[in-house]
Amino acid sequence: MALINSNYDKLAAGYLFPEIAKRTKAFLEKNPGAKVMRLGIGNTTEPLPQSVIDGLSLGVQKLARVETYTGYGDEQGDSRLRKALSDYYTSLGCSIDSLEVFVSDGAKCDSANIQSIFSQDAIIAVQDPAYPVYVDSNVIAGRTGGFSNGLYEKLVYMPCNESNGFFPELPKTKVDLIYLCSPNNPTGAVATKQQLKKFVDYAIANKAVIIFDAAYAAFISDESLPRSIYQVEGAKQCAIELNSFSKSAGFTGVRLGWAVVPLELVCEGAAAGKINSLWNRRQTTMFNGASNIVQEGGLAALSPQGQADCRKVIDYYMNNARVIKEGMEKIGLKCFGGVNAPYVWLKTPNGLKSWEFFDKLLSECKVVGTPGSGFGPSGEGYFRLSAFGHAENVVAAVKSIQENLKS
Ligand SMILES: *Cc1c(COP(=O)(O)O)cnc(C)c1O
Repeated sequence: MALINSNYDKLAAGYLFPEIAKRTKAFLEKNPGAKVMRLGIGNTTEPLPQSVIDGLSLGVQKLARVETYTGYGDEQGDSRLRKALSDYYTSLGCSIDSLEVFVSDGAKCDSANIQSIFSQDAIIAVQDPAYPVYVDSNVIAGRTGGFSNGLYEKLVYMPCNESNGFFPELPKTKVDLIYLCSPNNPTGAVATKQQLKKFVDYAIANKAVIIFDAAYAAFISDESLPRSIYQVEGAKQCAIELNSFSKSAGFTGVRLGWAVVPLELVCEGAAAGKINSLWNRRQTTMFNGASNIVQEGGLAALSPQGQADCRKVIDYYMNNARVIKEGMEKIGLKCFGGVNAPYVWLKTPNGLKSWEFFDKLLSECKVVGTPGSGFGPSGEGYFRLSAFGHAENVVAAVKSIQENLKS
């Protein structure tokens, strides 16, 4: 007799983007021919630079000749790419060995899978609001109770709001696994070294582990802000870092990411090296490596030319972020983020609920955004606008909001 994993029935999310699609569709049915403008989704839109295309092409060409053909590669990633990523950390002033870098097909999978190497009894703490995968992967794994009143039982929510600058206080109860994302999706807030240091100290003192999602690190322009948690002293003892080529190099559809699991990392009952070897075991058991073509593209993206070219695309998106933020502030809306992150986190006017503002923005301005409440209870009353999009569409959406949003 097969029983399903009934933890799936507890999932409350999966609700956000389908609900956006449903309401958008209903609007279009009522207003045929209306042109809806989207500032909703965190998906890249601009083509890859030639230098990166050349890397991907090289990966394809290598498959055409017997001398350069490769089949399965190392599950942990091409050693040249692991070395290039180790060098990336050197450029940030961190010392990360190639053996600590695990190449993957994206940070979403890694952020979902990483919990599997920790105890079933681990107490999970998440920033609220948060990228939904951290919560949902732990719900599916059975580390939470049911969903009631907008909260999962047993999950520790760390509210991020205006009063704490969208970076959480330390948890008041003892927790084991702590998910942090900086620059943050959805709030656009970036943690300072001092803020991260508090969590690193907490984790070391409590033998807890931080899962640090740095997928938007490349969007930081303020040199004083950390792009890696390993820029904070002590982090190698207590933190796993996840990152991705998706947003930094436009690889959302290409698929390439990496996890850093330091050899120094420890937790209760696991000496140095143990967690690294567990993740190695997990990946070699369940994963057969990222595409060789794509890894060649990743190498090209990390080359000096690739970095300079990717920088231009990032600057393009960050100009969109500036247009959105300035445009919203001009009509008196309060905004956060959008300076070192490609998301603008808007406080809804007149105390509107996130979904009420969604409907208003869609019906009055024909603009689709993302309700903050979809990312967790502390997102209520906020709204995410994404800077990913063609500049002319972003300008048109901002103009429409300025001209049509009723006060
Ligand atoms: C987009 C995004 C990622 C990247 O996921 P991939 O699977 O690498 O495409 C990771 N974390 C956050 C918070 C994101 O928004």
